[in-house]
Amino acid sequence: MESQAKVRNKRVDFDQKSDEIPAARCGMLKKEKSARKSKRSGVPSLALTFLGTRGEIKIHSRRHRRHSALLIEGKDARIMIDCGADWRGRLRAIAPTAIVLTHAHRDHAGGLVDGAPCPVYATKRTLELLQRFSIRDRHEMPLRRSIVIDGVTFRAHPVEHSIRAPAVGYRISIGRRAFFYVPDIALLPNAAAALHGIGVYIGDGATLRRSMVRERAGELIGHAPIVAQLDWCANAGVRRAIFTHCGSAIVRGDAGRLNALIDRLGRERGIKARLANDGDRLSCHGGAGWDFAA
Ligand SMILES: [Zn+2]
Ligand SMILES: [Zn+2]
Repeated sequence: MESQAKVRNKRVDFDQKSDEIPAARCGMLKKEKSARKSKRSGVPSLALTFLGTRGEIKIHSRRHRRHSALLIEGKDARIMIDCGADWRGRLRAIAPTAIVLTHAHRDHAGGLVDGAPCPVYATKRTLELLQRFSIRDRHEMPLRRSIVIDGVTFRAHPVEHSIRAPAVGYRISIGRRAFFYVPDIALLPNAAAALHGIGVYIGDGATLRRSMVRERAGELIGHAPIVAQLDWCANAGVRRAIFTHCGSAIVRGDAGRLNALIDRLGRERGIKARLANDGDRLSCHGGAGWDFAA
């Protein structure tokens, strides 16, 4: 059996046409280089890869091939956020050190039905909903309290999205660098506090302008449009936003035209905004800002 270290060191080319895993685009050489660079500057580095950017929809495309998932690479971390059904049987090549879940919907947790090769962190309610999954090493994620996983700090913020499968968004930081990840959201309570001081908001791309929010039992369920999330960012002083978990109209649409529109909607609010594609990377090293690589 191939050792995990060997798998991690193997550089796998990212080829959208093949069935390879986009994760692999983060080659080890680059990672080692950035780790050395951070050591010199004394500030930890952080690299994010959008493994998947597709929502719970029937179609997929070359850009949005698999269910939304993010890989966070830090000095000691390869943490995967969410593992939807599209990722079932594909975890070996990613070799995560931990998996963190936002909620129990199929497009976020369905890939763990046969278990996981690493510890899995999720809220109490999410773990209850996944009771029948063969996950051996499960950990309860506290709400509104920071915990450190492999050197990366997570703070779960409950959001409105589903009554049956309550979701959280994560404020995630290494050193002074912080970003917010929330692939499914109808409403972010206390948005200003949750988003305060973050460098990037990574949000729900289910819909651009048409609201997919409904009210049930006094709570909002569904998906807030991108324009509403840009307003939350503007109010909280966030200057950068990227949208994952793309809906049918976006996956089917013309990427250039959609990005131009999102760019304009962002600029109107003082925000640099765009869609994420599978395999896109975002990194920050030392004291520098965030670099986006499509
Ligand atoms: Zn979803
Ligand atoms: Zn959901």
